[in-house]
Amino acid sequence: MKIMFPKFDKVGMPLLGVAAAALFVLEAKRQLRRRTRPKSERLVENGSVAAAALPALRLLLVPGMYAAAKWANRRNFGLLAWLPGWGRYTLGFLLLDYTNYLWHVLLHKSDLLWRFHNVHHIDLDLDLSSAWRFHIGENIASVPYRSGAVALLGVPAPLVLFYEVIFEGCTAFHHSNLRLPYKVEKQLCKLMVTPRMHGIHHSIVARETNSNFSVIFSGWDRLHQTLRLNVPQHAITIGVPSYRDPAEQHPVRLLRLPFEKQRLWQLPDGTVPEREELQEKHLLLP
Ligand SMILES: [Zn+2]
Repeated sequence: MKIMFPKFDKVGMPLLGVAAAALFVLEAKRQLRRRTRPKSERLVENGSVAAAALPALRLLLVPGMYAAAKWANRRNFGLLAWLPGWGRYTLGFLLLDYTNYLWHVLLHKSDLLWRFHNVHHIDLDLDLSSAWRFHIGENIASVPYRSGAVALLGVPAPLVLFYEVIFEGCTAFHHSNLRLPYKVEKQLCKLMVTPRMHGIHHSIVARETNSNFSVIFSGWDRLHQTLRLNVPQHAITIGVPSYRDPAEQHPVRLLRLPFEKQRLWQLPDGTVPEREELQEKHLLLP
């Protein structure tokens, strides 16, 4: 199996690094939601979880998806195999993004997968460092799904690497705590997932968490009626209601979390967070 991808590592990764550095500076200057915990502690916690998960992404997921694409390309296999090159690239990019929308829905619907995805969601704040805070188990579980999707679609192998760079860049962007001008974001979220839109996905209100599953294009949520924009950012409490204790953010506890008894979706005092449903689900509020 091919492991080395020179363009991915020498062009894609440095570009991602520059984008992440820019977001890191910008989100500090223009905060969207008020942070609840010290940044330094979050960097250590989220950095430790990411340090375990990222090698799985680079050494298993990326080579796995690339090998699956090569396998399909050699056999002219897959939904898009009959299309000309440009069609396979454009439609392939769109449909790869759709498979990732479906994967994200599955992470929330499957009890087993949620155990791992929960580690990402119990973060008590949302910023750039949350973008790589995924349990290594979630990254490993995504290998057969995402490789299978690549093979079934029959997307060109180089597209898999290109899509992955854009996917990671967009993940960094929509997890960031960057306050974009409201008017700009109102337009932008018609096309792609933005920080306000994804902030709603990390709310402790169950109905809001079960919204906005898209990764790059916001259209998948529109298509499946899972789009929700009508929650003002100042009203959002980030996290999962049954995990409010900062002591539980220790990296070792986070890595053990999927193997422990799962808690009900309620606050420590037993109440279930609720919010009155506003009209106009698709209207972005500041
Ligand atoms: Zn999620």
